[in-house]
Amino acid sequence: MTDITAAGAAVTSSPLIGDAHLYISGEWRHPSDGGTRALVNPATGHTLTVVDEASPDDARAAVGAARATFDAGEWSATPVSERAALLRRIADLLVRDKAELSRIETLDTGKTLVESEIDIDDVESVFRYYASLVEVDADRVVDVGNPAVISRVVHEPIGVCVLIAPWNYPLLQISWKIAPALAAGCTMVAKPSEVTPLSTIAFVRLCEEAGVPPGVLNLVQGSGARLSGALTDNPDVDFISFTGGLATGTTISETAAKHVTKVAVELGGKNPHIVFADADWESSVDQVLTGVFLHSGQVCSSGTRLIVEESIADSLVDELVRRANQIRMGDGLDPASTTGPLVSQAQLNKMADYVASGIAEGAVLRCGGGRPDRDDLHPGGYFFAPTIFDRCNSSMRIVAEETFGPILTVERFTTEAQALALGNDTTYGLAAGVRTSDAARGERMVRGLQHGTVWLNDFGYYTPAAEWGGYGKSGNGRELGPTGLAEYQETKHIWHNTAPSASRWFTETEDER
Ligand code: NAD
Repeated sequence: MTDITAAGAAVTSSPLIGDAHLYISGEWRHPSDGGTRALVNPATGHTLTVVDEASPDDARAAVGAARATFDAGEWSATPVSERAALLRRIADLLVRDKAELSRIETLDTGKTLVESEIDIDDVESVFRYYASLVEVDADRVVDVGNPAVISRVVHEPIGVCVLIAPWNYPLLQISWKIAPALAAGCTMVAKPSEVTPLSTIAFVRLCEEAGVPPGVLNLVQGSGARLSGALTDNPDVDFISFTGGLATGTTISETAAKHVTKVAVELGGKNPHIVFADADWESSVDQVLTGVFLHSGQVCSSGTRLIVEESIADSLVDELVRRANQIRMGDGLDPASTTGPLVSQAQLNKMADYVASGIAEGAVLRCGGGRPDRDDLHPGGYFFAPTIFDRCNSSMRIVAEETFGPILTVERFTTEAQALALGNDTTYGLAAGVRTSDAARGERMVRGLQHGTVWLNDFGYYTPAAEWGGYGKSGNGRELGPTGLAEYQETKHIWHNTAPSASRWFTETEDER
């Protein structure tokens, strides 16, 4: 059994975490009311470290700092080349400190070290991508049919942004917001999840070292509900970018509407993975398994609904059960682990509730359903075995709701039309996968599925250059790609007449007409 307590103590003393954890106007501060929160290592249930937790006054101060810095105009007027260079310096520092950032992310979230390392690589890529994109984010010239008029559409930073992130991919998710916001010339307040704030604290220290000017990037952490008024019911905020659950996204949208604050919400998913009988067998088994059990299913785009053609359903489910039982769950710092624990006791309780509901609603539990029966797992860790339910239908809670854990449900179809209808039978619409060797059918399916990302004969991949976001209740914004930059920009039309003349619409005398 790995002794994580010792590793946890090391996090507290990490220079990347420091001893003050709020960053406002370029200063590391303790909270005004002395608030703190103990963070728990999900692999042991032990306290990992204690961090400062912002008060609503601190959050208001952070928004005020972002407002004053934006209104001063210096940052937004910084030449694009300088902002791009700053993003690249941040990317370089991510490379330098990748090992420590990955270790912090694993201790805080429970995910395996390899996953954390991939996350940090992806964060680096996002910064490099937006550095390059903003350099070519050119104005548009519009021909208005009058040679004397120069008509331009230009992009300007939207202003003060509040960036709220979830706990499952802490640094990755907030980087999808911070990178384009910095590239666009915005100022911001970042609010990581109170469950996993460590990597964001460490990252803000890197941004400071890279030379992000005081007041441009401010950091508060703590309970979202407690800080909500200061961050989302605040006329000084121009844009809120939120990633998290549907209920929270709805509350934030309602609150912000009274100030006509722009809001982009990136929410949950209930993602179908559709397998036709003619699909490649080996990659199907492999990717259905990875698609749902990676990070113990705590992934917004997790392929939790297997929708499989009846003729191969029994054999595919048998093979998935066999493989799921072999997954090496364990402490994320242990190189032998291929997946880690759930993030919290609350998540563990939620999975137990979903398993009970699946059984009560008549689904057939084929494997998992509770804590793995293994002596080598730390007794305090939040481990939940990969779980597969066969004979499911979309009226069951385990199929209709986002479980956000390692639970795969199996539904069967006999026709392509049924497969498509099942794939769209969800209020969400974040991501979907289709597996078939019939190219024409593959194309019909990817066009018919109402989801923001659709993978054909693959699952789970994304690139910083392509937009990410959801249809339906999975959200209303887009991150990554050019649209992910545009979210942080205002669009202004400048009409410049180089040879002004009177229009004579309102004339002084009839003769002038
Ligand atoms: P959550 O909604 O509980 O919390 C998300 C963030 O919102 C946290 O920082 C939290 O402190 C804050 N918050 C909570 N209440 C708030 C309020 N009233 N006002 C302002 N902020 C508030 O979500 P979570 O449990 O952290 O994350 C899991 C959810 O995130 C899942 O539904 C998952 O699918 C979703 N998610 C979506 C994507 C995507 O790209 N669409 C990516 C990752 C996670």
